[in-house]
Amino acid sequence: MDYTLHDETLKLVKEERRLTGLVIENLQKIQEANLHLKMGYSSLFEYAVKALGYSESCAYRRTSAVKMARVLPEIKEKLNSGELNLTNLSMAQSFFSRGKIEVAKQKEVLEKIEHCSKSETEKILVREFGVKALPPKRELVQSTTGDEALLHVRLQQETLKKLDRLKNLRAHKNSKMSYADLIDDMCEYMLKKLDPSERTVHGQHTRNTDLSAKPGAVGVARSPNPRYIPPMIKRQIWRRELGQCSYIDVKSGKRCESRHLLQYDHIQPVCCGGEATEQNLRLLCHAHHRFRDANV
Ligand SMILES: [Zn+2]
Repeated sequence: MDYTLHDETLKLVKEERRLTGLVIENLQKIQEANLHLKMGYSSLFEYAVKALGYSESCAYRRTSAVKMARVLPEIKEKLNSGELNLTNLSMAQSFFSRGKIEVAKQKEVLEKIEHCSKSETEKILVREFGVKALPPKRELVQSTTGDEALLHVRLQQETLKKLDRLKNLRAHKNSKMSYADLIDDMCEYMLKKLDPSERTVHGQHTRNTDLSAKPGAVGVARSPNPRYIPPMIKRQIWRRELGQCSYIDVKSGKRCESRHLLQYDHIQPVCCGGEATEQNLRLLCHAHHRFRDANV
């Protein structure tokens, strides 16, 4: 049997590496141009999963490489040559992103993990950074059948103690409370506190419970601070936007799906006379708020 098949496969693997390098380079350009934000994705990771169809772990390895390439552009060459691969790069990046690691130290570590397997890389990183184990992996949510899901999280011992204290305090409600029951209980409590659409109207808000009232109308005090947004208006906006970023890509019509770090945005900025009215306000995620500010 001749080795033609092996030679062909070797060629394909080289081509695969070259293409991976090009994908990383393009992802970097996309991030620099904020194209993912323009298209309605709140992060490059979300763009890689939802627009490019990568699995979460594949997207994580590629976006880790993009982060590293910003500081160490030479890694693209090393990916191309096969000296480094996306797995050991993302493992190293999980250490580099934890604190201020000098660029010289990052280069030194990368040289040590060249051509290394996953387990060899792990041993080197643990030794180089003087830790007992790799940093915790991304939290994992697994959907199961029915209405349930499995959530894998790594907790500090202190957090576990707090959860146990809460279980004891809530024992009068449910003496056999599980951690799942407690999490549900905490969600109910926190959502009532934090979600504007669930918050009950009380205190100063009860002066006018008519949700159609405009600021300045009877019962709604005007604040001397032009940036102040009355809680009632906030609730109206939150309900109208369904607690989701309202950015829409004009080309595709895709709306950003983020519910993370939502902020109230004045469509006509306050400095240009924009007021805190329902018509002049919208919800944007942090990424699209910054994107909007950079493009005003
Ligand atoms: Zn957004």
